[in-house]
Amino acid sequence: MSQTLFERIVAREIPATIVFEDDRIVAFRDINPKAPTHVLIVPRKPIPRLADAQPQDHAMLGHLLLKAAEIARQLGLDATGYRLVINNGPDAGESVPHLHCHLLGGRPMAWPPG
Ligand code: AMP
Repeated sequence: MSQTLFERIVAREIPATIVFEDDRIVAFRDINPKAPTHVLIVPRKPIPRLADAQPQDHAMLGHLLLKAAEIARQLGLDATGYRLVINNGPDAGESVPHLHCHLLGGRPMAWPPG
C-alpha cells in the first residue's frame, strides 16, 4: 500500500514545521491552520484512524495525549486553553487516513463544533 501523507512527513520526505518528536510521535504545524496555533500530533506507526487502534497501541495513545498537553504548555496555551480533536471517518471530516490529533488554541472556540 502507498504511504499516507503523514507517513511521508514522518519520514521527512515532505517538509513540515516539526515542533516536537520522539520515538513514538511527531508533532508539526497544520498547513492550513484553523486557529492561531494548530498542530497535528501523529504516531509514527501508521494507524489509519482511532477506530483501528488496537490494545497494543494503549501506551502510545496515552503518551500522545500526555505529550499534547506538554506541547500545548510549551506553545503558551495553558492559561487561555486549547482543544484536542480527533476526526474519525467521513462524518467527522477525516481527510488523511493516518491517526492524528489536532491541537488548536489561541482563540475562543464555539461548542458544539460545526
Ligand atoms: P483531518 O481533516 O482531521 O483528516 O485533518 C487533516 C489535516 O491535515 C488538515 O487540517 C489539513 O490542513 C492538514 N494537512 C494536509 N496536508 C498537510 C501538510 N502537507 N502539512 C501539514 N498539514 C497538512
